[in-house]
Amino acid sequence: MDQLEQAIQAVKERLPGMKLLENEAMSAHSSFRIGGPVRALASPSDVTGLTRLCDILKEFKIAPFMLGNGTNILFPDEGLKDLFIVSTEKLQKIFLLPDGAIYAEAGVSLSRLAAFAQENGLKGLEFAGGIPGTLGGGCIMNAGAYGGELKDVIESVVYLFVPDQGLYEMANENCAFGYRTSYFQKTAGCVILSAVFRLEPDEPQAIAAKMQELSEKRRTKQPLDLPSAGSAFRRPEGHYAAALIDEAGLKGYTVGGAQVSEKHAGFVVNRGGATSHDVYDLMMHVRNTVYRNTGVFLEPEIIILPPDYHLEDNGPAVRRNRITVNGPAGPEK
Ligand SMILES: Cc1cc2nc3c(=O)[nH]c(=O)nc-3n(C[C@H](O)[C@H](O)[C@H](O)COP(=O)(O)OP(=O)(O)OC[C@H]3O[C@@H](n4cnc5c(N)ncnc54)[C@H](O)[C@@H]3O)c2cc1C
Repeated sequence: MDQLEQAIQAVKERLPGMKLLENEAMSAHSSFRIGGPVRALASPSDVTGLTRLCDILKEFKIAPFMLGNGTNILFPDEGLKDLFIVSTEKLQKIFLLPDGAIYAEAGVSLSRLAAFAQENGLKGLEFAGGIPGTLGGGCIMNAGAYGGELKDVIESVVYLFVPDQGLYEMANENCAFGYRTSYFQKTAGCVILSAVFRLEPDEPQAIAAKMQELSEKRRTKQPLDLPSAGSAFRRPEGHYAAALIDEAGLKGYTVGGAQVSEKHAGFVVNRGGATSHDVYDLMMHVRNTVYRNTGVFLEPEIIILPPDYHLEDNGPAVRRNRITVNGPAGPEK
């Protein structure tokens, strides 16, 4: 039995209550509705379960691939036979701390986080209301829209660092947040567990009105009726990807079931039955055409996983550190 199979066996024996799907089609877990089977997909029911699962995977030198809402990932049609995916779907705690900050776990959706802030008369997260990802994926990507980014409102992030199995709390200024990037994206082995948000008080009605205005903008400009993974390309310095693609005459350009959205050239949509190859080929055509026309090189914002993608964690197993956090980040037992 190889190490992944041994790890799956150990997870079944030692964490029998945990939801574990085997050979699960990733199309069901991706906003693109694309993706073949992954060998294992586990959903720990709390932060303690997640850290225990990571400990077991570590023992077998398997690194977890973390999954939020799957709204920024292109999974391969061929599947991922070497991957153990860990979903944060059940990490849903959210509450106000005594000092008025918001504590939320990695699986909380950004829309729920924004709604929670609004209900509690706290402004600053209105921009996040229409982003379909989770807090964990949002921290990795420093998700943002309409002039706001998570980096503007995060006070600190708690994460498990798989290589040394340590729990750490990182203050905002050390998170290296930039345009759709963060320390956690650039550093292999970071599992986001939770974050604390510092916001300003305001009238709940005024916050709701702002959220409504942004949601209307999104509805009129974006192809929300078709599966996609949001903006396909990052914004190149001094340009807008959508404008460059539109100017290249690529709006509506189609490969198989994948299409450059007719509504918003920055989105690639699945018009039905698109394969990961359709999306990839289309994105490469867009990139080459825009480069030939303008000399600007478009970088994908979507995370594209190739079929042979696998993660290895050969770091030394070290006892987990204890830390003090601004909220319950999973007591050690
Ligand atoms: C219709 C639509 C509109 C969108 N609009 C916007 C927008 O306005 N602004 C914007 O920024 N984005 C937008 N996006 C993209 C996407 O929603 C964001 O990038 C979001 O932050 C991804 O969150 P997720 O939970 O879906 O992450 P996933 O897609 O599940 O994962 C993204 C990355 O984060 C990692 N990850 C996820 N959770 C964790 C965790 N707990 N610990 C460690 N790593 C983790 C994954 O391994 C992966 O590398 C849009 C997408 C769609 C489909």
